[in-house]
Amino acid sequence: MSWQQRMDQALGVQQEKGLFRQRQAHQQHQGRKITFDGRQYLNFSSNDYLGLSQHPALIAAWQQGAEQWGVGSCSSGHITGYSQQHQLFEQELADWLGFDRALLFISGYSANQAVISALGQKQDLLVADKLCHASMLEAAMHSPASLKRFHHNDTEALNRLLTPREMGETLLMTEGVFSMDGDSAPLATLAHQARQAGAWFMVDDAHGTGVVGDEGRGSCQAQQVTPDILVVTFGKAWGVSGAAVLCNQNTADYLVQYARHLIYSTMMPIAQAYTLRAALQVIRHADDLRARLQSNIQRFCQGAEALPFQRLPSNSAIQPLIMGENQMTTMLANRLREQGFWLTAIRPPTVPLGSARLRITLSASHNEEDIDRLLETLYDAAS
Ligand SMILES: *Cc1c(COP(=O)(O)O)cnc(C)c1O
Repeated sequence: MSWQQRMDQALGVQQEKGLFRQRQAHQQHQGRKITFDGRQYLNFSSNDYLGLSQHPALIAAWQQGAEQWGVGSCSSGHITGYSQQHQLFEQELADWLGFDRALLFISGYSANQAVISALGQKQDLLVADKLCHASMLEAAMHSPASLKRFHHNDTEALNRLLTPREMGETLLMTEGVFSMDGDSAPLATLAHQARQAGAWFMVDDAHGTGVVGDEGRGSCQAQQVTPDILVVTFGKAWGVSGAAVLCNQNTADYLVQYARHLIYSTMMPIAQAYTLRAALQVIRHADDLRARLQSNIQRFCQGAEALPFQRLPSNSAIQPLIMGENQMTTMLANRLREQGFWLTAIRPPTVPLGSARLRITLSASHNEEDIDRLLETLYDAAS
């Protein structure tokens, strides 16, 4: 079969399964509103949990940064792309989170890939929660190390996998707040299990950073855990983009030698690092935004009890409503759009087969009326 025939066939399969993915370009995106085809919707699909993507201090920092240093970093950090602003932000982040070092990456995807591919060698074992993000699981699958996955948040199932091994190292991987289910990992128990087994513990806190813990330090701080490796991303609550790996001195030095995603990729723009420094200051003092988000979450959860949908034990900004079937989920999402709400249907393979869902994400920029109207509309759409 030619590439062309293979593609035609693969596209046909997506269509038949009701899984054909299409991106839609919006015209405007401001705070809680988003405009598609000239129509404005209330956005319940954004990861901008604190509304920082439009924060005046961040916009000003980005503008000042661009004026001062231009818009591109012009090379890999290993050549001339690494600036004082990157270095300052890494230090501030490491100090804030209580690690020796922080290393900046252009995305969470590349940070996870970099860590896992740099660490995993032939006799090693990677142990991951089944619901870990694709960026971790894919890197683990491509690693020469072997991969075992355990049932979501099931510490007993994990115990059975963490048996003593004669050779090789073990890395236990999980997320702080799970991106598709919205629940949290029992980090203290997992860290204890890892320590008992002589394994390293890695936490991807893409959805916890900025949102939970003192000053928004994230899931690990909230649960009083210091993992060996912490990945934080700046595209969600931070409202920007990029990521960092937090670790000890040696691990950072090792990654600087061996993390290919760091070595062979252009450093994030200086203006972006400068903006992230500003974002850190905003986040540290954003208890009001975090409180507003929490109150929106509570309001939603209370109201959602009356909905005839399966829910998950989430008390985060991520509130999935499980429909199961793909077509049904898309239909409901469309019905909500007709009513002016922008929600995304999340379907396999992003989530397990038969667990297609509406993934509702709440933000500090929503107001009480937005939440109530969403609940009413969901209620009507279901009946
Ligand atoms: C979004 C996300 C990533 C990827 O981060 P990007 O910076 O968007 O590449 C990684 N892990 C988790 C859990 C995520 O939700």
